[in-house]
Amino acid sequence: MLKIKNLHASIEGKDILNGINLEIKPGEVHAIMGPNGSGKSTLASVLAGREEYEVTDGEIEYLGKDLLDLSPEDRAREGVFLAFQYPVEIPGVSTTNFLKTAINQIREYRGQEPLDAVSFLTTMKEKMKLVEIDQALLSRSLNEGFSGGEKKRNEIFQMAMLEPKLSILDETDSGLDIDALRIVANGVNKLKTSETSTIVVTHYQRLLDYIVPDFVHVLYKGKIVKSGDKNLALELEEKGYDWIKEEVDTAT
Ligand code: ADP
Ligand code: MG
Ligand code: MG
Repeated sequence: MLKIKNLHASIEGKDILNGINLEIKPGEVHAIMGPNGSGKSTLASVLAGREEYEVTDGEIEYLGKDLLDLSPEDRAREGVFLAFQYPVEIPGVSTTNFLKTAINQIREYRGQEPLDAVSFLTTMKEKMKLVEIDQALLSRSLNEGFSGGEKKRNEIFQMAMLEPKLSILDETDSGLDIDALRIVANGVNKLKTSETSTIVVTHYQRLLDYIVPDFVHVLYKGKIVKSGDKNLALELEEKGYDWIKEEVDTAT
């Protein structure tokens, strides 16, 4: 699914990612954890192709293609979903209309006919049930006046509708309450298939009580300094990050 090799990236001339290596196979859920400022959101942004970030070295292979060669729009069309790409407020455009447009753009890109109204509605209903979202929310202007939990629900609904192959969720919002965490976790768990992969970026171990990751990676100073299974997240919960920082800082 995804192969990241020796990825270096900078913003405004400042090096943030210093040689990331990561391989993700179909069906896997990877959690990226790490202290504040370690580069977690930068990694998510580089994967999505946000233009402020400059990739200075390394490669990213996505389904056999060079991801760095694709525009952010084409990455989305190729099945990469980044949650924070979409939480923008769009006055006058409902989630329903936004998704209709997005889905038909993807279909056009793939050389498929636009989805007819009946099929679209059937899919909507099915996914609404799956992520437990209310019809009323979908008729409102996208994200306008949405609460934190409603934004999360909406984000997960978009993910359900767009059926991405690789989802990247950056739970950067320190205001995420327990309901929002549950919404995200339930969504990820229900949408998981043997052909899709998920990267969950978080510095909360709490989220991983609900999403059981196959792998946990700790990012520190722009590098993955430790990888393990879900037990690593539990160890971090118990011991914090200082022991990892010490290990790394004394070794360098
Ligand atoms: P994390 O998500 O792990 O908390 P980030 O990827 O957001 O970390 O940030 C990593 C580093 O990059 C931090 O030192 C941060 O200050 C810096 N950084 C992030 N965005 C910018 C920016 N737009 N301009 C300058 N520095 C930035
Ligand atoms: Mg941060
Ligand atoms: Mg962050």
